Amino acid sequence: MRSKLLNELRLSGIHNEKVLEVMGRIARHEFVEEAFSSEAYKNRSLPIGHAQTISQPFIVALMTQAALGAPGTAKPRRVLEVGTGSGYQTAVLADLVEAVFTVERIRPLTESARQRLQRLGYRNVHFGYADGMQGWMPYAPYDAIVVTAAAQTVPPSLPEQLALGGRLVIPVGAGKAQKLLLIERHATYYSETVLSDVTFVPLLAGRI
Ligand code: SAH
Repeated sequence: MRSKLLNELRLSGIHNEKVLEVMGRIARHEFVEEAFSSEAYKNRSLPIGHAQTISQPFIVALMTQAALGAPGTAKPRRVLEVGTGSGYQTAVLADLVEAVFTVERIRPLTESARQRLQRLGYRNVHFGYADGMQGWMPYAPYDAIVVTAAAQTVPPSLPEQLALGGRLVIPVGAGKAQKLLLIERHATYYSETVLSDVTFVPLLAGRI
């Protein structure tokens, strides 16, 4: 089932071999509720409790590939993830970069993701229970920022916390009309590319 999923990802335009290798290795069934483990290697999003979902594998792959940059780009050192959720996207990033800083606004999700990644042996992930709309200032700047919930508009703190040459991958839009954007920080301006149509849960202010 895992190799079938990898083939599907390749056919949908995921060409970064490192991303494919890591996603083939990480056991996604560890990140979903037991009732859904038989669905874990299908290319679909699944419930993780608290009205949230683990993203579809294709979207995780697409966001990770965009965060890593074009082939030949230096490996990002510090990456911020907004929306820890199950910790699956966190784990994929943690296998590919030096350090991941991940923030989540729902406390029980932060706690279970922290325990899960600790159990799986991750040592380069820093968890925050915070509203990621403000970014995470203490550890900025970031070489990449990956936002896994849809913003109405881009929260200004996020591009501001990018390092020069850094990349922000963020779904933007209301309801089902969302676009996944890649925003890159250059010396004097930001560039923006639309990567895909997407459907994410909303990015919400405050913590619960
Ligand atoms: N990356 C996750 C996807 C989880 S769904 C995974 O792989 O499982 C998106 C998550 O974003 C939810 O857990 C939601 O609570 C969280 N979220 C929404 N708004 C947020 C905000 N302002 N700050 C931090 N997390 C937020």
